[in-house]
Amino acid sequence: PPAETDAAPADAVVLRRVSKLYGEVAAVDDLTLTVRRGEFLSLLGPSGCGKTTTLRMIAGFEYPDTGDILVDGRSVLGVPPYKRQVNTVFQAYALFPHMSVAENVAYGLEQQRTPKSEIRGKVAEALEMVQMRSYANRRPTQLSGGQQQRVALARALVNRPSVLLLDEPLGALDRQLREEMQVELKLLQSRLGISFVFVTHDQGEALSMSDRIAIMREGKVEQLGDADTIYSSPASAYVAGFVGQQNFLEGRAGESGAVETELGPMRSSRPSETRPGERVRVAVRPEFVDLTADQPDGTSENTVKGTVIGVAHQGETRQFLVDAGDEHTLLVRRPTPRAPRLDVGDPAWCHWSPEDVHVFPHDGAHSAP
Ligand code: ATP
Repeated sequence: PPAETDAAPADAVVLRRVSKLYGEVAAVDDLTLTVRRGEFLSLLGPSGCGKTTTLRMIAGFEYPDTGDILVDGRSVLGVPPYKRQVNTVFQAYALFPHMSVAENVAYGLEQQRTPKSEIRGKVAEALEMVQMRSYANRRPTQLSGGQQQRVALARALVNRPSVLLLDEPLGALDRQLREEMQVELKLLQSRLGISFVFVTHDQGEALSMSDRIAIMREGKVEQLGDADTIYSSPASAYVAGFVGQQNFLEGRAGESGAVETELGPMRSSRPSETRPGERVRVAVRPEFVDLTADQPDGTSENTVKGTVIGVAHQGETRQFLVDAGDEHTLLVRRPTPRAPRLDVGDPAWCHWSPEDVHVFPHDGAHSAP
């Protein structure tokens, strides 16, 4: 074995300035990304942003036009898929229907000519990991969707890859099962310490499971960070709109955090890269908007008068839609015990704190999917 060095252990996957073109379309565009050893990283973004293509290049099913891909510190560009320390789980479970659960899980090991004596133990262990040991002799057709996905996972983990790639693996499951599997997957990942790269367009899924999330847009990573950072300090209007909900207003930046918007003067106390005079987008999350029947005291900044046009009871929270005129509707979410007693048709004031106002350059793109 190679001598131990005192350098940090190599990252699980490194994509270095990778591009992939399909004709004129850059599915992946000069993308650089590091997956750390043992981390759960999600690629999150709308349909067509290049998530699957990125995954397929790591797996070796697609070849990049430019750039390099390293797994465990070594370039894998010349390495065929089955020789990379990488396995993939797809949304369609792709189990062999004519084989038993145990045979499905054993398949990869047999291909690698693992001794029979070892295979039995490894298969049992992999099925144990996903709590499917008692189903070893069943056929895939005799299993539920969730059970089939567990078997697919066991099959992908049985030879202990460095990296597991998961392409919307829970997409075919109903909501309740999906939420259960999210918890299970995360537990399994942290127990095994294998790096997971998880592709999803579901922000809730990404937020609940990931150590870090890469928000993708048009073949690039727009922001990479943990869930808190992505949620509370989005790097762009695109990220702000993709994760969680937002009220967006258009405006023009003034001095020291002031913005003149369609709905009046706003102010932000957050750092922003915009310059006075620049066209900007202002974002405020519904949960940071306060709603009152009376005009709030003090400043007129960050205050909008409107009319309640919708109230939705959602258990712990109550959601209000407020027509602010000029075809502007603001979304407000209050904790139910502190929600104002306002009904449809009532006049109301929306206001918020400068700390909760994000100001982004106006890049012309639609921010919400
Ligand atoms: P989805 O969530 O819909 O799967 P995605 O983010 O995974 O989307 P990709 O499947 O990576 O996106 O596709 C990125 C872009 O590349 C899209 O514009 C897609 O149409 C294009 N593309 C992907 N595969 C091919 C192909 N084999 N031939 C031509 N164009 C392709």
